[in-house]
Amino acid sequence: CGIVGYVGHRDATPILLEGLHRLEYRGYDSAGIAVVNRGKLRVTKAAVRVAELRSLVGDGYPANIGLAHTRWATHGEPTERNAHPHVDPDGRVAVVHNGIIENADQLRAKLTAEGATFASDTDTEVLAHLVAARVWDGAESLEDAVRAALWEVEGAYGIVVLDVRNPGELVVARNGSPIVLGIGDSEMFVASDLAALVRHTQQVVYLDDGELATLRTDGYRTSTLQARRTDKTPTVVELTD
Ligand code: GLU
Repeated sequence: CGIVGYVGHRDATPILLEGLHRLEYRGYDSAGIAVVNRGKLRVTKAAVRVAELRSLVGDGYPANIGLAHTRWATHGEPTERNAHPHVDPDGRVAVVHNGIIENADQLRAKLTAEGATFASDTDTEVLAHLVAARVWDGAESLEDAVRAALWEVEGAYGIVVLDVRNPGELVVARNGSPIVLGIGDSEMFVASDLAALVRHTQQVVYLDDGELATLRTDGYRTSTLQARRTDKTPTVVELTD
């Protein structure tokens, strides 16, 4: 339902939680956050309001990269285990997702036959497994791993992905579910809704369907699912508080 991501030089946790708060008006049943701290993925999630997630996180972990989500359940009950972010079994790749993966059951059956075990009932978790498999197989970049995973997927998605071993970048993708990038000063933001960004930057880029982006502290690049680079012109929006 709601997505926020951050990579930059500031502490990610307060930025992500505040972003989620701005998306609360859309409604949700669960909330969660993942940051990379000292080479470890720190995930906090539960079937709670953003204010309660904030207390669960407490002082949190210092981190410069992370992603967060408010969930509106479509596959699986609104429970802690089904809340996003979802992580692959090795704890390497974290994913937040808006939308519905239509062929999740088939993908899950295939992965299960290959020996995978699932920690949730969601359609989203298959994405974490698929991306992680590509990363371990030696994809040249996280973006390539995400792109390859998305070739197997049918359905609607806005996603943000991070790899704990590559804590300098976020990869995002969109197909039928909005994703907007926020360009900061040595920092990048992403959200499913402008409302989570307008406090931080006036320069935004709307992804198109079938488009991916890699975000780093020093900027972003966009491309298609077919790996063709795309040229985006940032839109200037009103900065509000
Ligand atoms: N289909 C996913 C789930 O049920 C994402 C739902 C959403 O858009 O929040 O977990």
